[in-house]
Amino acid sequence: MPNLPDVPLQGLYGDLILDHYRNPRHRTPVSHADVEAEEFNPFCGDRVILQFRLDGQGRIVEAGAQSEGCSIIQASASMLADIALGKSVAELERLSQLFRTMMRGEPSTGEAEDELGDLHSLQVVRQFPVRIKCALLPWTALEIGIEGFRSKNS
Ligand code: ZN
Repeated sequence: MPNLPDVPLQGLYGDLILDHYRNPRHRTPVSHADVEAEEFNPFCGDRVILQFRLDGQGRIVEAGAQSEGCSIIQASASMLADIALGKSVAELERLSQLFRTMMRGEPSTGEAEDELGDLHSLQVVRQFPVRIKCALLPWTALEIGIEGFRSKNS
């Protein structure tokens, strides 16, 4: 496995990332999931599996994220599962776009930052281009999961 640069996790943002890494939210797999996906990044050994269950109104009522690999992917997966609860699939897609915009380093509004919540802290990863993939892997999985969900339900 190649040696990837370590993202220094200091300060408020670092604390948030480490908190999610050490205490991942919603790690328990969800049964009867409506949206599910798995993604793997062989470059650094990151893997993520996601499950979401929707209620009759199309809101996410149960979220599961199991990940392994570096601290960045594990934190990103935990934050994704956490923020997904109560949202619709379309809202989650919008959030995914906001997150990608932030990770590309494009200017984002304060409003977008509020919406991103803890995910906002992952912007520290931007200085390490090879690690951006780690932060994005759960979101790539999410998008694939949503695609599968839509093709099943159309
Ligand atoms: Zn990684």
